[in-house]
Amino acid sequence: SIIPDYLAQALGDVESDTSGRLADYIPELAAADPERLGAVFATVDGEVYGAGDIDTEFTIQSISKPFAYALALADRGFDPVLAKVGVEPSGEAFNQISLEIDTGRPLNPMINAGAITAHSLAGSEDMNPSERVERVVRGLSAFAGRPLEIDESVCVSEMEHAHRNLAIAHMLRSYGILTENPRDVVEGYTRQCSVLVTARDLAMMAATLANRGVNPLSGERVIHEPVVRQVLSVMSTCGMYDAAGDWATQVGIPAKSGVAGGLIGALPGQIGIATFSPRLDAHGNSVRGVSLFERFSSDMGLHVMEVP
Ligand code: GLN
Repeated sequence: SIIPDYLAQALGDVESDTSGRLADYIPELAAADPERLGAVFATVDGEVYGAGDIDTEFTIQSISKPFAYALALADRGFDPVLAKVGVEPSGEAFNQISLEIDTGRPLNPMINAGAITAHSLAGSEDMNPSERVERVVRGLSAFAGRPLEIDESVCVSEMEHAHRNLAIAHMLRSYGILTENPRDVVEGYTRQCSVLVTARDLAMMAATLANRGVNPLSGERVIHEPVVRQVLSVMSTCGMYDAAGDWATQVGIPAKSGVAGGLIGALPGQIGIATFSPRLDAHGNSVRGVSLFERFSSDMGLHVMEVP
């Protein structure tokens, strides 16, 4: 296949771009090697192609959000989830304290307010906080097709500085959107964000979305098609935060970024793509990841609004 050579060349072309900064509001993330760079394509028929640092582990961070949202929809059904988390793009930063004025409902599940709520809705209502985390980690693992683990030091590091997410959770509790102890929910959400993945894992997770909810390698049906459609729709409108409009026009692939430098895209019926490069732009999206996706989209005509 020519794909690995193509990927290696694309990495070579963006390698010299050292712009952007590591996330440092989570001190442990500032210790990452900023030079890491990798890209993986995983097709819906189970082919996996990669170049660069594709087996280096890093924390999933916000890329967990669409998958936890999927689990909440699968476990509780659409109506109970939609009653507590909207689907409107916020056009705001990921950590914006933004809730609907009258109801307190977070605008969408990709910003922290909505993701903290979605975490609380994964699993069944009667689960305790650690059972819920277990449910989420098991679910993320099914998407990836291998058992994933939590990076405890990143989790502790984030919890020590989680004042903003705690504030958001207390607001949500005051509106009755959260019914549990806000600290427990933030801790669970932070554990979810601290799950360790590789670019290869992320590509498989994206490929599972691209493949109607069935992991292309394990063959496991992780979620049903209506949930896939809901999740991909929300990714395409809200996945890149306040850069969602630029992304929709330039790249045109449902996507999600994380502050540890991961970035995924899922093209229905075709392919899951993941990149890893830790330096971030002002929106909190990976600089070299965004460049790579722009290139992949234009080289291969992957924009969903283009006729193939
Ligand atoms: N755990 C991070 C937070 O809640 C995730 C943010 C992100 O990846 N954009 O702030």
